[in-house]
Amino acid sequence: MKRFVVANWKMLPQTLAEAGEILERTDEWLGELNGRVAPNIVLCPPFLFLEEVAQRLQEDRLRSVQLGAQDIAASDVPGQTGEVGGAQLAGLGVRYVIVGHSERRAMGESDATVHAKVLEALHHQLTPILCVGELSRDVGWQERLVSQARSALQGLDGPDLARIIVAYEPVWAISTNPGARPDTPESAAGSAAVLRDAIGQSSPLLYGGSVTPANAAGFLKHGAFDGVLVGGASVRAGDFVRILQEAL
Ligand code: PEP
Repeated sequence: MKRFVVANWKMLPQTLAEAGEILERTDEWLGELNGRVAPNIVLCPPFLFLEEVAQRLQEDRLRSVQLGAQDIAASDVPGQTGEVGGAQLAGLGVRYVIVGHSERRAMGESDATVHAKVLEALHHQLTPILCVGELSRDVGWQERLVSQARSALQGLDGPDLARIIVAYEPVWAISTNPGARPDTPESAAGSAAVLRDAIGQSSPLLYGGSVTPANAAGFLKHGAFDGVLVGGASVRAGDFVRILQEAL
């Protein structure tokens, strides 16, 4: 099965020119595949660059790359200053949306809001990339992980559930957090098993948290995961294409 490599650019890069460089390198890399099948590549730029990136993804080899957003408003009610709605995203050609990222949860996003955003994404035919992960591995962390996932997915089953991608992102492993270190593929696979047990087998499951060219293969080749969600390394064009290479 084709692996997923999802790029979460977070609040980077600063300029459209730098964003263009990432696209350029990805395009070059796609041109060097010589018949090998590319992974499912999903780029999630900040809202600011969505339109320009969407345009670039209409060109030649980049047509195989999908566009994602980093968040979605929980409803389509227009009185939500600063938010971007599902209809707007879909209108720009967005196909995926990250929901419940730990950086948004840290800013106060509740489980209930995450659930509403999952439903809103599905309503607009967007594929939610639902992020779940424990803050630390203290007593009861697995129960909290399961409860986070169940709460976001409550009431969903069958085809709806199969449309959702779940990203296991231990918060302590996210590179922007102090003292962050990547999980190991074996330990993350243990969490994947817990999640699979709780939510079923149908959703693709990704690993995220300090993925780099040096450790990507471990997660990508481990049977527990269908791909990786990459933050910091996804805006370093050279690192990003090296991670793509590991996903072949
Ligand atoms: C993320 O923000 O989703 C992420 C995985 O970040 P990083 O790869 O930088 O740890």
